[in-house]
Amino acid sequence: MDSKYNATVIGKIMITPDIMVLRVNTDTPRAEFESGQYTVIGLYGHEARSVNSGEEHKESQSDKLIQRAYSIASNRASSNQMEFYISQVKDGQLTPRVFGLEQGDRLYVSERIVGMFKLSDTPKGFDIAMVATGTGVAPYISFLRSHIAENSDINMAVIHGAAHQWDLGYYSELSFLASTFPNFHYFPTLTDADETWQGRKLWIKELLEDEILANEANIATDPEKTHFFLCGNPKMAEGISAWLNEYEYEKHSRKVPGALHVEEF
Ligand SMILES: Cc1cc2nc3c(=O)[nH]c(=O)nc-3n(C[C@H](O)[C@H](O)[C@H](O)COP(=O)(O)OP(=O)(O)OC[C@H]3O[C@@H](n4cnc5c(N)ncnc54)[C@H](O)[C@@H]3O)c2cc1C
Repeated sequence: MDSKYNATVIGKIMITPDIMVLRVNTDTPRAEFESGQYTVIGLYGHEARSVNSGEEHKESQSDKLIQRAYSIASNRASSNQMEFYISQVKDGQLTPRVFGLEQGDRLYVSERIVGMFKLSDTPKGFDIAMVATGTGVAPYISFLRSHIAENSDINMAVIHGAAHQWDLGYYSELSFLASTFPNFHYFPTLTDADETWQGRKLWIKELLEDEILANEANIATDPEKTHFFLCGNPKMAEGISAWLNEYEYEKHSRKVPGALHVEEF
């Protein structure tokens, strides 16, 4: 069987048993892309599933390439190295196989990098509010790694909602950026934190209703001044979109440009 594999695992950082940062080296360099875009990862059905996964919801065919979309967390520059932030769906077809990968293992990474969720599309001078649940923070990591230094004239914030402290992948990097760039603000918030967590414990919508962006980041909830990006859980995206609609936000699409950008996982 001809294998479509064209990339090698060069790093696998387990944030928790079910969340990982995956680094791959592609055989040929990928073209420059726009921060926020995604590509497709694939593995054949004959690959082993991770030891802590469950039974798959539908049996995969051993010779079929299982393919799914993943946002790219790397800097946008052309490179052989790409980084992804992936959570394991225990009964899923692809992710348990991705979690079974080890350093040096081969996989498929599409050469096409696509998507409308482009942070760099934001018109000049607009502030940027980036809201994520779970692995939805990945596109913002790409944006900050690529563009934070050249955006000193606008305010930017990441609001990251998760359940536990250990679910906050990129906490160190985002905290470091917030302490280095006065115009970048990082608001992690946990819904199921233990007593060691000194930070925020509200739902994302409650933080927004409390005007955390205006009060602590000088970012207005106003489509004439701020572009909002929502990435992750569809329920979060739905709830926050409805809240933003009250402020006259309109969803961005290819046909109708708007200041509200949504990517659902
Ligand atoms: C643009 C985009 C970007 C994304 N970026 C990321 C990212 O950066 N990180 C990340 O972790 N994820 C990301 N995702 C999600 C990712 O593409 C996969 O959907 C996810 O990883 C699950 O894949 P899987 O093959 O393991 O699970 P799947 O096999 O696709 O199953 C997913 C769930 O759906 C249910 N299901 C699916 N089909 C059926 C069926 N026929 N009957 C019953 N139940 C069914 C399963 O039970 C399971 O719970 C992104 C998705 C999109 C669209």
